[in-house]
Amino acid sequence: MSEYNNNKNGTDDGQNGYEDVCFICHRPESKAGRMFKLPNNICVCDDCMHKTMDSMSQLNFQGMMPPFYDYSGMMNETSKGNPPVKENKDDTSEPVLEVNDTSDEPAKKDQNKGKKAVNQGFPNISFINLADLQNMSGVPNRQKIKKKKEGEQSKPIINIKDIPAPHKIKAQLDEYVVGQEHAKKVISVAVYNHYKRVATGTMDDIEIEKSNMLMIGPTGCGKTYLVKTLARLLDVPLAIADATSLTEAGYIGDDIESVVTKLLAAADNDVEKAESGIVFIDEIDKIAKKKNTNSRDVSGESVQQGLLKLLEGSEIEVPVGANSKNAMVPLATVNTKNILFICGGAFPGLEEIIKQRLSKQTGIGYQAELKDRFDKDKNIHSRVTVEDVRKYGMIPEFIGRLPILFTLDGLTKESLVKILKEPKNAILKQYQKLLELDEVKLEFDEGSLEAIAEKALKKETGARALRALIEEFMLDIMYEIPKDDNIGKVTITREYIEGTGGPVIDIRSNSVQRIEELNEVKVE
Ligand code: ADP
Repeated sequence: MSEYNNNKNGTDDGQNGYEDVCFICHRPESKAGRMFKLPNNICVCDDCMHKTMDSMSQLNFQGMMPPFYDYSGMMNETSKGNPPVKENKDDTSEPVLEVNDTSDEPAKKDQNKGKKAVNQGFPNISFINLADLQNMSGVPNRQKIKKKKEGEQSKPIINIKDIPAPHKIKAQLDEYVVGQEHAKKVISVAVYNHYKRVATGTMDDIEIEKSNMLMIGPTGCGKTYLVKTLARLLDVPLAIADATSLTEAGYIGDDIESVVTKLLAAADNDVEKAESGIVFIDEIDKIAKKKNTNSRDVSGESVQQGLLKLLEGSEIEVPVGANSKNAMVPLATVNTKNILFICGGAFPGLEEIIKQRLSKQTGIGYQAELKDRFDKDKNIHSRVTVEDVRKYGMIPEFIGRLPILFTLDGLTKESLVKILKEPKNAILKQYQKLLELDEVKLEFDEGSLEAIAEKALKKETGARALRALIEEFMLDIMYEIPKDDNIGKVTITREYIEGTGGPVIDIRSNSVQRIEELNEVKVE
């Protein structure tokens, strides 16, 4: 049943360019060489196969052991924790590592003997129960690494000539993201520079620094959305990680390197593609240094320390298809040198630090200003400096590796109204499209949009509240409209949103005529 991959360069066309990984030593095909293919997508490299064969021959399983020899002791030593394998003649699961594929008879006999021997508990073999591995075969390429094609020069994924100029990147962002002009401008330039650096490698003797970013803005103002849109426009893999779940290695939580694993998964386990992707780490303010703590800060400062080497650029070994390293997962080496890291957070309480600094600066002399002047400044965030972020609890080495610092503004009523109707995939457009399929025109008058925005503002979750609100108001409409074929147009009003009236419903002018026409068709 086993099959040797005899292809010269190990290319397996049926696997879409994915590398096989040895089930025993976890080395990929490019390192371990040719692979034996076993059922259920399991591969074993030459070395491991030989080792297994050697240990089997040492045990002299070919009938030379006295029949009363008791193997159970060995089994206990080598496969602690494994349930004993039952001897069952009808057992259709294949609890064996099949060792030989020659079709001549004696070998087959050996194989069968091997089978029996395994059932009695041989070391090295008994723990490979193929039936246990059924689950792994469900997602065939999940734990495989995409391999480089032979003879194919490592072609840059992003060609320097293809990188759109910053103003073009921004123009495309404008189609989706409302407002946030400054942030869009900064991010467009940073991304442009970053990919220019990736495309050229090192620029002779002047190496361009990485443009990792730190964005600060209240919740729901479009931080994640901006990065998502950007990655889609540039067609690069994107991983979104949550800093809250990260902990120092060895503690409960996700390992820091899991962010790169996520990126690798987003790039279909293609290491090269992942190496030019984007990682967005949200809620970065949650890993600020804890104040007044005596215990080890495993989810704060230690995580910042751990992230340093990723941000800087280094070769790290990450598990493929799992969140943490263990004996069952293959490892891939990813270089983070060209991965763009964008960190985002709301940094609640940062305003106080900024205010303190500002009032200290301006509190003395002729130009002294009133302390509460800054209380009224809604976008005080935009005056942030690296020093403020450091005071907040981010360590200097960490901030130093995020050279581009910018802020996003809180959304106003006007921008919420725009978000409702202007972006390419605006929520209102989505509902209009849905009702269009029922041949009903849906309109929102200006008053209704403002009323929705006012309600959303009260929830203080930014644009996130919009969708929930609209869902709530549209439920009845979406339920009632399909009941009546004569409805041609629905206009949502402020009264309907505020609960003091209903929507305006227009009956189709030609509905009577249309029904007659339909009847005529039926009669024919
Ligand atoms: P956060 O800043 O907390 O990461 P998100 O980016 O997740 O917020 O925003 C939530 C949703 O709100 C997005 O999916 C998007 O639809 C909408 N949204 C937020 N800000 C904007 C914006 N400036 N323009 C368009 N849509 C936005």
